[in-house]
Amino acid sequence: VILILSGTTEARRLAAELATDTRVISSLAGRTDNPLPIAGEVRIGGFGGVDGLAAWLRAEHIEAVVDATHPFAATITAAAVRATEITGVPLLVLRRAPWQPRLGDDWRPVHSVDAAAELVPSLGERVFLTIGRQQLAPFAGLVPWFLIRSVEPPQPPLPARHEVVLDRGPFTVDGELTLLREHRIDVLVTKNSGGDQAKLTAARELGLPVVIVERPPPPEAPTVASVPEAAAWVRALGQRSG
Ligand code: NAP
Repeated sequence: VILILSGTTEARRLAAELATDTRVISSLAGRTDNPLPIAGEVRIGGFGGVDGLAAWLRAEHIEAVVDATHPFAATITAAAVRATEITGVPLLVLRRAPWQPRLGDDWRPVHSVDAAAELVPSLGERVFLTIGRQQLAPFAGLVPWFLIRSVEPPQPPLPARHEVVLDRGPFTVDGELTLLREHRIDVLVTKNSGGDQAKLTAARELGLPVVIVERPPPPEAPTVASVPEAAAWVRALGQRSG
């Protein structure tokens, strides 16, 4: 039985790839009310920290864990590292590669959402905020106008002047250009999630500064960046254990 710590596109694709011939349980934190469908079995909700996860791995006879959570979901990743150490269950981390700056980009890297909020007022009056829906409080007291995009409604407190766009993507460069122009955006704020680059390309074309929240330190565990590599790792384990 394989546990995939899920909540990303890559995690869903890995479940689809493995579920044809392997028993796969995908785990979601339960943050979204309407998660996209996932192949194989799905469980929802936290495990109760390191000890809870370790106990669950034993109870479910999990043979390997693939942590395919979002690069900013550092708590569950740290718990996966510890719980697999305790139980001796093999762990692989699947993380999409971070975005790298390209010629023409005007990136302002910061190491936290708080630092992003401190920087934003000096960069413009109309801000496109795309850091998810849970960490918006540091922006709440700020003067600029915000366009906030998230998959589900953003969690208050929110900035006094804002508009919300609910959208899950994927996004196109043309669509992003239209959005940035229509709302006369001065600055984009994003996490360095990797993956879909349309908003970054659009910001580059318009010469907009991008406040980019860098990732937390990577976990100390074997890591791959693609779904086929993760599937191959799982299959190789299966062959070794017979
Ligand atoms: P987090 O801060 O690392 O985790 C907080 C707690 O949520 C964990 O301690 C754990 O609770 C529970 N949890 C998180 N992921 C879980 C999973 N896949 N299955 C079961 N329990 C989980 O995580 P987060 O940043 O809140 O993200 C939550 C989920 O949303 C993750 O699955 C992640 O892949 C997805 N996501 C996050 C972001 C982001 O920007 N952070 C963006 C897109 C998607 P217990 O301690 O009780 O086990």
